[in-house]
Amino acid sequence: MELHVLGADGGEMMGFKPSSFLIDKSLLLDAGSVCSGLPLDELAAIDHILISHSHLDHIKDLGLLSDLLTGRRKSPVHVYSTATVLETLRKHYFNDEIWPDFTKIPDQMDPVMKLQEIQPLQPFMLDEYQVTAIPVNHTVECHGFLVTKDNKSLLYSADTGVTELLWEFANQTPNLCGLILDVAFPNRMQFLADLAKHLSPQGAAIELQKLKNKDLPVFFFHLKPAFHDELTQEIQQLLLDNHPARQILRSGARILLQLP
Ligand SMILES: [Zn+2]
Ligand SMILES: [Zn+2]
Repeated sequence: MELHVLGADGGEMMGFKPSSFLIDKSLLLDAGSVCSGLPLDELAAIDHILISHSHLDHIKDLGLLSDLLTGRRKSPVHVYSTATVLETLRKHYFNDEIWPDFTKIPDQMDPVMKLQEIQPLQPFMLDEYQVTAIPVNHTVECHGFLVTKDNKSLLYSADTGVTELLWEFANQTPNLCGLILDVAFPNRMQFLADLAKHLSPQGAAIELQKLKNKDLPVFFFHLKPAFHDELTQEIQQLLLDNHPARQILRSGARILLQLP
């Protein structure tokens, strides 16, 4: 599997884009920033979009992408999430006020976008990918995802504070090639990290003690752009020193996922 980081960050600023990860060509994890990262033919090749939760920095480009894909695809692009998140999307985004309802455009039988409900902890197949949604700990209902293809797996935490099940999956999944982990606020803003249910570098260091495989590649994402330099320094000191397999993700990066 190849991981193409369309957006690595916990916000948007010059040089920084909200969270979105393309696996190979057709499977997208979150849709914070998609449209500006790929040419039109590659956008049209995305078949499946997994949405972790309803926060804007993870859904922002769903609307603009739907607009771009109108008349470009033979079949709808499928957007997968839990019932709660899909209801929020219908009610507050694709409501014909904020944005047209692209689940009915050009017509209800053959729309640009289809919303598909998934159940937490029940593995399902999307073409050759097996996907499991894993509940994590955020201010709204949020799920990370375990994605497996050809006996290789990637674990995505999505937005989370202190959590448990994610680490159980990290420890029990054979052939795990990498973990994408939330780190959002610097240590001095721990109160805000706790309030917003994100991790700080020191919080991530404590969480990573739950991980048995210390050589697992860990990719840190969701750094708040306004604190990027400070976060980079803290992550370097607390999380990267003596861990060559770990790195801070940058928007635009392409990473071939391999067994450690
Ligand atoms: Zn969030
Ligand atoms: Zn977020």
